[in-house]
Amino acid sequence: MRWYKCELHTHTKHSDARHGLEELVDKAWNMLNLDALAITDHNTITASKEVNICEEKYPLTFIPGIELTTFYGHIVVLGLEQYIEWRDLHRLNLEERVKEINKCGGVVGIAHPCRVGDPISTGSYFTYHIDDYNVFDYIEVWTRTASVKDIENKANMALWTELLNKGYRITGVYGRDWHGGGSEVDENIYTLVNSPTSDKASILEGIKQGNVQCSSGPVVNIQVLKAGKWEDLFFGDEIVSKPLTFKLSWDLETIKGAEKYKKVKLYVNIESNKGSLARIEKSDSEEPFNIDYIEGLKWIRLDVHTIENNQHKMLGFTNPIYFN
Ligand SMILES: [Zn+2]
Ligand SMILES: [Zn+2]
Repeated sequence: MRWYKCELHTHTKHSDARHGLEELVDKAWNMLNLDALAITDHNTITASKEVNICEEKYPLTFIPGIELTTFYGHIVVLGLEQYIEWRDLHRLNLEERVKEINKCGGVVGIAHPCRVGDPISTGSYFTYHIDDYNVFDYIEVWTRTASVKDIENKANMALWTELLNKGYRITGVYGRDWHGGGSEVDENIYTLVNSPTSDKASILEGIKQGNVQCSSGPVVNIQVLKAGKWEDLFFGDEIVSKPLTFKLSWDLETIKGAEKYKKVKLYVNIESNKGSLARIEKSDSEEPFNIDYIEGLKWIRLDVHTIENNQHKMLGFTNPIYFN
């Protein structure tokens, strides 16, 4: 298993982007060093059909996709090579459509749920009526380039946390919503999927399982002490063993430029449905730490922070580890 750098939300000239498919793929490979790239044009899959031209030139994993762009919200579908009807969607029938897509093997995510909608960008704000959010595989928690200061991303994070607190096991991802033409590759932010291989099916399975973290630098791994032995723990997993003794390790190699954090203060906040449970500094991260089990604890998540000019800055977050 290793971490693969993925970008799950991109556009080409086949919809409204400024770059064509080849330019996008070239930047994905040469500037962002991506392992996997999803092409998710608005309401069309024609670019995905031309991807074979790029497959010969770039050793990237290509994931076909589409962004169903509607008045009530934007939905990204990954993994299907077929067009998906969106024109008949209204506020009440999305859930049924998503179930049909799931049956066909499509992986479905809510795009930028808290982006400003009407009158700035009609449909960008998610207003569909959903009874059961379990139909969705993932939700974009970070979008575009302004990773954390951005008010939109704060609202997305709050929404995701609320869904997790309600018991939904929905994967949180990053989506660049890459349209080209600007400073869109200034920040190396990735959805990292932990997977045995970089093939399309494994990456999509990793997303569904929640074996995912998002980061603009440091990558974290966690182990759990089970019957006196350290075992790798994967995000999205469920744990039943107690006591809750863990060990963190830091990876500053996977993301280019993350070496700069070697000399910088890093820490992880253990967030949960019961609030913040602990703060683990990088310096003592190889030391085991305990979390007291609280009645009703449903999940924990690792939020990665640094301190820059006396300001706390969030650099990444993992998906939850769940408790039964
Ligand atoms: Zn969109
Ligand atoms: Zn988009």
